[in-house]
Amino acid sequence: MEIFDESVNNLSGKAARLFAEGIVETIHEPLMVLNTDLMVIFVNKSFYSFFKSDPNNTLGTIIYDLGNRQWDNPALKNLLEEVLPETSIIKEFEITHSFPIIGKKTLILNISKLDIETYGQMILISINDITEFKRLEDYNKVMLEKEQENTEVLKITNEELMVSQDELNEMVNRLEISNKELDQFAYIASHDLQEPLRMVSSFTQLLEKRYKNKLDSDADEFIKFIIEGSHRMKDLIDDLLAFSRLNKEPGEFKLISMQLILFDVLENLQTFIKENKAQITHDTLPTIYGNSSQISQLFQNLITNAIKFQGDDSPKIHISVQEFLNYWKFGVSDNGIGIAVEHQEKIFEAFKRLHNRTEFEGNDIGLAISAKIVERHGGKIWVESEPRTGSTFYFTISK
Ligand code: ADP
Repeated sequence: MEIFDESVNNLSGKAARLFAEGIVETIHEPLMVLNTDLMVIFVNKSFYSFFKSDPNNTLGTIIYDLGNRQWDNPALKNLLEEVLPETSIIKEFEITHSFPIIGKKTLILNISKLDIETYGQMILISINDITEFKRLEDYNKVMLEKEQENTEVLKITNEELMVSQDELNEMVNRLEISNKELDQFAYIASHDLQEPLRMVSSFTQLLEKRYKNKLDSDADEFIKFIIEGSHRMKDLIDDLLAFSRLNKEPGEFKLISMQLILFDVLENLQTFIKENKAQITHDTLPTIYGNSSQISQLFQNLITNAIKFQGDDSPKIHISVQEFLNYWKFGVSDNGIGIAVEHQEKIFEAFKRLHNRTEFEGNDIGLAISAKIVERHGGKIWVESEPRTGSTFYFTISK
């Protein structure tokens, strides 16, 4: 080191300048040297190529006047005129400036004051272009902010989802409670109404027995209406009770013969079948796992309806079965009046009447009971029908 120092010290003025210029030229970053009047006395090649300038418009120019006063920057001015006189080195001074030719750049300036015997004081400015780095940094910052925003949005959506899930759970709970209460109400009401109804109907029958033809003809008619009304009410209450019992009591499940159950039902309905000249045929029915009184009720409802809603021809009814891997599919087809498509779903709800009572008798609960029975047996019920041609009520029973 000493040898090197020595040899530099021994260099003549010109040789020393060449030596310094040689070093400066090899430096990759743009560099400029100013004298104390802030006039550019030297720049390296990198400077020219970076600022797209040449010696003619650079050397001998005051720094602020360089390239159409593109260095006339208040921050730099303050630095060179106010800060530098008080210190010998300024490190890492960042400036962002829009240069007319090379565009907007972010530069790091390192400025040092040099004292060289032959030249006096000089100012060396090295320039580090960090525009690209800054751009990446800004980009990363924006991406990070975006990511944070997205996380925030996700968090909010998540919270909202959790709230709506809670609300949903609560609604389901409330629905379950009110369903249970409704079932309970229907059961109690239908059960408790039986007793007073029995009293009304037995006393009006007594009234009829004792006083028929003894009062005037109006009174006989009124008594007849009361008896009819109480019969209707008894049917309705029986159905309602049967419907709500299905919710309360699952009933005993065992292997049962659908064929035998069908025979029982046809026997029960024989008068009704004969009166209506109904022809009933059936496939050979299998043995299933289920509740016999519920299945019997199901057949009874569907066959009664198939006869009741007959068309112009006498009723022809067929009970079919198809076997699938996990279930049986049964069908009760008729050649009756049929059901319009828009009614095909709502007939399975309780008290959904399509016809008025004078056309067809009924409590509008038969299919709701049937649907509940099928549901209890792990199956589905639906109808396929064409008005004035006939309907097929299908139901499945799981194996
Ligand atoms: P209801 O006690 O009145 O028969 P259901 O619940 O059994 O009540 O039936 C509901 C409605 O579905 C009936 O009023 C009728 O309009 C229609 N329906 C049911 N079965 C048939 C059928 N086989 N053909 C045509 N319509 C039917």
